[in-house]
Amino acid sequence: MFTSRPVFGYSRRAVIITAASTVALTSTYVYLSSPARLDSSSSTPVTKRRPGPLWSPPSRSQMLAHLKTSGIYIQRTSEGGPEPGPVLSREGDDLDASSSDDVFDLLIVGGGATGAGTALDAASRGLKVACVERDDFASGTSSKSTKLVHGGVRYLQKAVMELDYEQWKLVKEALRERRIFLETAPHLSSMLPILLPIYTWWQLPYYYAGCKLYDILAGKENMESAYWMGKGKALEAFPMLKKDGLVGGVVYYDGQHNDSRMNISLIMTAVQHGAIVANHTEVTRLHKKYDPSKGCERIYAATLKDNMTNEEFIVKCRGVINATGPFSDGLRKLDEPTTQEIVAPSAGVHITLPNYYGPKTMGLLDPATSDGRVIFFLPWQGNVIAGTTDSPTPVSQNPVPAEKDIQWILDEVRNYLSPDVKVRRGDVLSAWSGIRPLVRDPAAKNTQSLVRNHMINVSKSGLLTIAGGKWTTYRAMAEETVDQAIKEFDLKPNGPSQTDHIKLLGAHAWSKTMYIKLIQQFGLETEVAKHLAESYGDRAWDVASMADPTGYSWPVHGIRISPLYPYIEAEARYACRKEYALTAVDFIARRTRLSFLNVRVSLECLPRIVDIMSEELGWDTKRKEKEFDNAQEFLRSMGLPEGAKLKLSEVARSKSIGPISIPQREDQQLFERAQFSPAEVSHLKTQFHQLDFDNDSRITRADLLKAMTQMGYDASAETADNILREVDFGRKGAIEFQDYLDIAAGLKELHLENAFTHLARMDSSRQISSGNDNGAIGKHAKDSQEENGERGSRRKIPVERSGGGT
Ligand SMILES: Cc1cc2nc3c(=O)[nH]c(=O)nc-3n(C[C@H](O)[C@H](O)[C@H](O)COP(=O)(O)OP(=O)(O)OC[C@H]3O[C@@H](n4cnc5c(N)ncnc54)[C@H](O)[C@@H]3O)c2cc1C
Repeated sequence: MFTSRPVFGYSRRAVIITAASTVALTSTYVYLSSPARLDSSSSTPVTKRRPGPLWSPPSRSQMLAHLKTSGIYIQRTSEGGPEPGPVLSREGDDLDASSSDDVFDLLIVGGGATGAGTALDAASRGLKVACVERDDFASGTSSKSTKLVHGGVRYLQKAVMELDYEQWKLVKEALRERRIFLETAPHLSSMLPILLPIYTWWQLPYYYAGCKLYDILAGKENMESAYWMGKGKALEAFPMLKKDGLVGGVVYYDGQHNDSRMNISLIMTAVQHGAIVANHTEVTRLHKKYDPSKGCERIYAATLKDNMTNEEFIVKCRGVINATGPFSDGLRKLDEPTTQEIVAPSAGVHITLPNYYGPKTMGLLDPATSDGRVIFFLPWQGNVIAGTTDSPTPVSQNPVPAEKDIQWILDEVRNYLSPDVKVRRGDVLSAWSGIRPLVRDPAAKNTQSLVRNHMINVSKSGLLTIAGGKWTTYRAMAEETVDQAIKEFDLKPNGPSQTDHIKLLGAHAWSKTMYIKLIQQFGLETEVAKHLAESYGDRAWDVASMADPTGYSWPVHGIRISPLYPYIEAEARYACRKEYALTAVDFIARRTRLSFLNVRVSLECLPRIVDIMSEELGWDTKRKEKEFDNAQEFLRSMGLPEGAKLKLSEVARSKSIGPISIPQREDQQLFERAQFSPAEVSHLKTQFHQLDFDNDSRITRADLLKAMTQMGYDASAETADNILREVDFGRKGAIEFQDYLDIAAGLKELHLENAFTHLARMDSSRQISSGNDNGAIGKHAKDSQEENGERGSRRKIPVERSGGGT
């Protein structure tokens, strides 16, 4: 029999496992480090090597050091992009960038989709690039989109109806970009079928022809073809859909992505190609000097402020690109205070709903809502997001969604969901508002008529502004911007744009089944492994390698941050070490999507997240408090109910996650997910049993008569029948416990008033007088107490309450 004998103190089995793992790891490393093989037919070679599986980008302080020396240590390599060399490498190095002509080719301001895409395009052409972001990468609009990678069926409709050839070309370009997007970031984006529900027959040929045209326009870039399905199939695919009047549906395909993770991946790919990047670093001033070749003052440097320390320094560059999205006019005014504004900001609100609101793999689009707006209803990251676009707005960093917009979305959602799905305010897990940087057409009266195109504008002093467009077309916009910058600033790239075939960091060794290896190698839960593979691509190995053992036989690794979501603690470590997360908000909003999925759970997880990040980033107690406070404020901009501020020091904490009770507010019940608290459920049970005199689990006519007599009412059979008729919706002749809960829910939610609820409340007051006020529901408990005083004399049930009047 084979026994595991110790070899040099280790068991033979352990030695075999170690040797096998070393071979496996080495071969994985060699594979991942080999020159990139590209699927594209493009003839331009991409010479960058794949970053090794455990590749570490330069630290933020190294990045800042390069910024402070205006990139004089960045070397242009003969192949591929620039490589930042060590700062302060040799004694006596000339660190005064002003004495050197070796400066950044481009300083890109803004680290959203546009800035990050431009940084990657320029760096991969061998240009020396700096990209700075005053908040966090993707903290602006780029984390708050509808998450579609699309040509825009709505824009196609506009192109056809208004015979607008420009719009037609835009849709076609976006469809081409959609294909490139899904190929260069396959781990972060995927195809999504979207249903257009049809309730009148005439819509069928119209929608079907439109979707087919969309397919034709996509041509060889197309995904799956659109198709039509009848009522039965539509309900099979989307069981929550309202059945009444449904004719069927047309299904078409678009792409969907994880917008902020896509943004981070773009930034990290730009870093891999030699770009110097810094988040929480703001451009506060532009410096100009006279340029004889242009005959005017031109921008040659900018003052940067590190918002983490308030330190200011100057960075020299050949050209500045303004990629600040909705904030474009702010930077343009730093250049020319009297310049005309070009951005017409337009806000779009989204809400996140629980997953039972829609199917896992199909979205829904209503192109013609009650007020003409479009509404999307899409599965995303395990939940459902619903939202719309377009209402003019002032610009702010964290715009707060208006309650009326949230209610509007809920009303629209209610319109096409089956009555079984009760659409409730309390089911809104998170809500956010994003500002779309539409380019203003001076002749247009409202934002609807603005073209969703981008615009490049160069000021007299050389500030190159790129504004507008959409996430889907970030790459094409970046290519065009860098082409223009090369001309404008006389730059020397090593070739044309290559981004149509540069795979983003994480994409190289990713496959749809990669997560299975993660499960097998690290003993992760399936849901966690899938989430890591879809968020980090092949970098998931790095994340998983940081995961702590759970202490259980299964899963072996990966302690969750919340039992409800597949995020693990190791992600917070990875975010700090390898993705420049500097604040707790960076982590809950951009590195993971927790705050977009559930603000309350985010709050509950915060103490633990702050703890892990403090271990990584060396925060002291004061800083931890500040991070907790800032994150709480941010969560309020994402729908966390208002209430007294919690203090980190006051929150009882342990290593495990515990619920944090959010201080109560007047209209708290509106925001509750579960209709009843545990105390209320137990109180309702007691009430039910008190009315159920014969203990047959039903409240019958006889029970009601008995209750009325005991409570001092004139008990007539007719009144009892009327009362019963009013609440016995299923016409069963009695009330069962689930009916009773429904009535109580109505009583609580809508202040439903009828004879039955009147009786129930009277009974509730009996409880109160007997000292048991646990769980008496809301304001009615008080009313009951008042009514209690009337007892003693025989009373009549008011006519309007004795049946018929709800
Ligand atoms: C509600 C909504 C839904 C959308 N849905 C979709 C969709 O489904 N599909 C799609 O393709 N597109 C969509 N879009 C459009 C898309 O999201 C935007 O076009 C895109 O994100 C804009 O990116 P940006 O980089 O230009 O702007 P932003 O992401 O806003 O980035 C600009 C950045 O500049 C920074 N900044 C500002 N001033 C300074 C300074 N002085 N120094 C340093 N940094 C500075 C800001 O902090 C900000 O992070 C949607 C837009 C909205 C509003």
